[in-house]
Amino acid sequence: MPTENPNTASRLVYLLAGCVLLLALSATAGETRQVLVLYSTHRLLPANLEGEGGLRETIANSVELSAEFLDYPRFSGESYAHTVTTFLREKYALRPPDVLVVGGEGALAFLLDHRTELFPQIPVVHMGVARSFLQSIPSLPADIVGVPVECDFSGTIDQALRWHPQARRLVVVTGAVTLDRKFEARLRDEVSRFQGRATAEFLARLPTDVLLKRLGELGEDAMVFTPGYFQDGAGRTFTPREAARLMAAAATAPVYGSFNTFIGIGIVGGSMPNFAAMGRQAGEIVNQLLNGAAPAELRLPAIMPTTLNVDWRQIRRWGIDEKVIPGDAIVHFKAPSFLEEHRNGAIMAAAVFLLQAGLIAGLLVERRRRRWAELAVQKQCSELAHASRLAVAGELTASIAHEINQPLGAILSNADAAGLILESGADRRDELREILADIRRDDLRASEVVRRLRTLIAKHEIERQPFDLNEAVSDVESVLRAEAQRRRVTLDIRLATTVTTLIGDRIQIQQVLINLLINAMDAVADVPEYRRTVVVSVANDARGITIAVRDRGHGIAPKHLPQIFDSFFSTKRQGMGLGLSIARTLVEAHGGRIWAEDGSDDGTVFQIEWPPASTMGVPSPEPA
Ligand code: ADP
Repeated sequence: MPTENPNTASRLVYLLAGCVLLLALSATAGETRQVLVLYSTHRLLPANLEGEGGLRETIANSVELSAEFLDYPRFSGESYAHTVTTFLREKYALRPPDVLVVGGEGALAFLLDHRTELFPQIPVVHMGVARSFLQSIPSLPADIVGVPVECDFSGTIDQALRWHPQARRLVVVTGAVTLDRKFEARLRDEVSRFQGRATAEFLARLPTDVLLKRLGELGEDAMVFTPGYFQDGAGRTFTPREAARLMAAAATAPVYGSFNTFIGIGIVGGSMPNFAAMGRQAGEIVNQLLNGAAPAELRLPAIMPTTLNVDWRQIRRWGIDEKVIPGDAIVHFKAPSFLEEHRNGAIMAAAVFLLQAGLIAGLLVERRRRRWAELAVQKQCSELAHASRLAVAGELTASIAHEINQPLGAILSNADAAGLILESGADRRDELREILADIRRDDLRASEVVRRLRTLIAKHEIERQPFDLNEAVSDVESVLRAEAQRRRVTLDIRLATTVTTLIGDRIQIQQVLINLLINAMDAVADVPEYRRTVVVSVANDARGITIAVRDRGHGIAPKHLPQIFDSFFSTKRQGMGLGLSIARTLVEAHGGRIWAEDGSDDGTVFQIEWPPASTMGVPSPEPA
């Protein structure tokens, strides 16, 4: 007798459990949620396309979305309804939707009539259904939910009348089929509110060609409002958008519309519900239902909002004052301003401009600072030059004293002689007259020495005057004559043969010459007397104005030559080493240059040169 093997039994149990689990898993993986959208109208109606877009945007990709179109008002009637019902029932028998969406009032009405034969247990979301229509249904089942919409015809007309204060005629265009007539009835009711502001005229159910002709005859006192139409008075079918486009193209008055799908086809605008937003809203409800929410428990907004939409090109075309357009209006087709369009470029340009302005400001500040610094340097230089002149005057004290003593001594002896003549009692008036003349001449000589000295050492403002270089050199000779005699040096002054005009500070140029001459006299101090001659030559020729100070002294050692113009360079026991450095500063401030070279017969030559261009216009020592 076979015995039961407990291992085999438990293995079977495990196998069975595994199969069940696998089946359950594969069933879950294969279960795709189904959503069916049933539209009232036909496939290409812009409102349907937008609504579908909103739905697809919101519902997860894993959900299968199917769409059916009742294609009202082109197809209708009981037999049509019966055929569609049969078709839908059979088509979706094996794949019934988890949620049904009805788009538009026609689809909702159809569902309410045929729900029991179609999808009795399936929750329904309505989309794009007017609140007034919902209110007209005696008892809406609790598992049919959605956010209603209400077209804001009155709001649009009210705005339009404000924007066209001259408009006295409100022309309303509607169509011929049931849906069109519903709009007409509603509009006939609503226009009564505008009595007193405009007279309402209905162009209802006209053949399109007649209608367009009428619209083309409107004057400035008119404005048009239309919800579009599905069918005209001649039985031609349209989408409301297409009908509105034809009207806007033909009308000689601004046209306003009721749906956002009309924006961009030539109408000015209107207070409109948005079909894409309706699709998104319905999609969110579908998601909640698919996640197991009970329809009756959903908390939904009372109504879809309407927004004021305007086409900027039409605002311009009809000369509407943009100030009357409310700030919250959505403005379409407004070309961005230059700044908006080239924002980045404009920011870059502004940044470059600011940077440039900053740089310019910085440069101006820098320039001003430099100018202050230059003025300070110039002031110091002028003070140094003055100090140097005082030093020179000090060096000349002995000779100056001698120069003054000479006329003073002569005056004294002449005064003594005059006293003796007077005491003698003789009438020697002519002699006395001569003596007095001598005294006067000597006095003038003495005061001339004092004047020259004062001129040299006085502190003065820098001048920029034309002066004759020959005269300036002669004055220098007068100042130094006594000193040269004292040192037994001959001054050989050779002036230019023509008037030689420099523009600048005469005292400063004289100071340069005095320095050069004193240096030259120092250099010849130790050479035999026959070589103690200093020659000063002034020339004015093609090279410009030149001065040469030539001596036959000890000369300058080649190693010292590069240093002699440096401040504080001196080979003398008592030397300060400032004379040549100040001389170079002053000459250069007058637009010239100064240098030293070996003399042809020993000694040294100092040359100063002002090129022709600068001789009549020596730059001011004042910084520019
Ligand atoms: P300082 O006369 O106080 O020494 P300077 O600047 O006038 O200062 O001169 C600087 C130096 O240049 C002098 O010490 C001297 O060595 C040299 N020097 C200037 N002029 C002559 C000259 N004519 N001959 C030779 N050496 C000169």
